[in-house]
Amino acid sequence: MDLQGFQPCFYCFEYNKIATDYPINNAIHDRDGFTPRCHLHWEYNCSKCESSVHFNGIAWCSSCKEFTCRSCVREKMVREEFLCYDYYYSIPCHRCGKLNPALDFAEYNGTHPFQIGDLKPKEQVVVWMPIYKEELEAQKFPHKAWGSERILSTGESVRHKRLESLNEYTPKNTWDALASKWISPEEDEEEYHHTHLILPDVYRLLNAKKDEEILDVACGEGTVVRYLAKHGAKVTGIDISNMIDRAIEREKKDKLGIRLLKLNAEELHNEFERGYFDKVVCNMALMDIADFKVTLKNIAHVLKDNGIFVFSITHPAFAWPASTTLRIPKGSKRNEDRVRIIQNYFDERPSLITYWEDFPSVCFQRPISSYVNELVKNNLEIMEMSEPKASEELVEKFPGKAYLDNDIFAEFLIIKTRKKSDS
Ligand SMILES: [Zn+2]
Ligand SMILES: [Zn+2]
Ligand SMILES: [Zn+2]
Repeated sequence: MDLQGFQPCFYCFEYNKIATDYPINNAIHDRDGFTPRCHLHWEYNCSKCESSVHFNGIAWCSSCKEFTCRSCVREKMVREEFLCYDYYYSIPCHRCGKLNPALDFAEYNGTHPFQIGDLKPKEQVVVWMPIYKEELEAQKFPHKAWGSERILSTGESVRHKRLESLNEYTPKNTWDALASKWISPEEDEEEYHHTHLILPDVYRLLNAKKDEEILDVACGEGTVVRYLAKHGAKVTGIDISNMIDRAIEREKKDKLGIRLLKLNAEELHNEFERGYFDKVVCNMALMDIADFKVTLKNIAHVLKDNGIFVFSITHPAFAWPASTTLRIPKGSKRNEDRVRIIQNYFDERPSLITYWEDFPSVCFQRPISSYVNELVKNNLEIMEMSEPKASEELVEKFPGKAYLDNDIFAEFLIIKTRKKSDS
């Protein structure tokens, strides 16, 4: 183990990204590990159980001059934004019961025992004094990146954060902004996910026949409607965003007789008669639609009895934002250096996902049961489910994309349903 060379402490380094005056200490612990740490950000001995505990799970009581760890008492969670976090643990002193923050928040608060002089660090460490605390508080911290993103981020991964409301970002305005950037899968030879994984199964399950009335909900720039029209179906596409202008343009240039309407899926029942369509498709859009319950209800309404409804979504369990990726070593681009982590499967709040720099999109994570129960409620009987898996040929053709990726886990979920007759 080389103790001579300077190796930045993982936490100092992370905090420095947020508080630029934060000093970066040399890591002296766990130098061979994933997260080498300085003395300040290492472990402290609990005065009760004597265990050595990670600094973010132990608190200092300046009245009793003692440490208490989380395992010895029952901690409370306090929601407060600081550094890269959005909460801290408040830990009652095992002796006097006074609530003290765990050392990560104590440091930010300027009450760490090293900062107030209760203890002297045994080893060399530069202790930060948050003299710019007011300034810091005025800043917007990027604390909303989820756990593993923060701990060992891929560097260039998709960023996502949870939103409490949709004031600033809505599915419509984010897709409006993306409309000019979006490249249709047919226009991009290198396009992989839509062309090779999703669309083949969507088309197979929909099994469009000549003269069938088919509705594409959230048709976007028109990939699916154009495919269906070329196969002889009578196609209608609706979309609430400016993406549909691209479909309208394409239809003007190369007429296939597609009816295109800028329409919210929530208005479907006002525009079309009950049971009007033989089939409905919704490709890679339900997870971008805020009110999926109303949307499914309306789809069931405009679908005839025994009609088919097929939809594809990002996989509720294995795709963003329910899951994220951990890369060891950090930044490695090889897929074998990567593990997939589930972290927010039940969190149905909207998420902001940045696939493209400056063009975030809003996504609604929902557990599989939420989708299935809503289908059941609307008399939509599941006939087949598909979790597209990359074939050997696909791995051969797109090794960087498919190998140890879509050949080992499902990134998309496609469901075929049939509307049962009410009677
Ligand atoms: Zn440190
Ligand atoms: Zn303890
Ligand atoms: Zn105490």
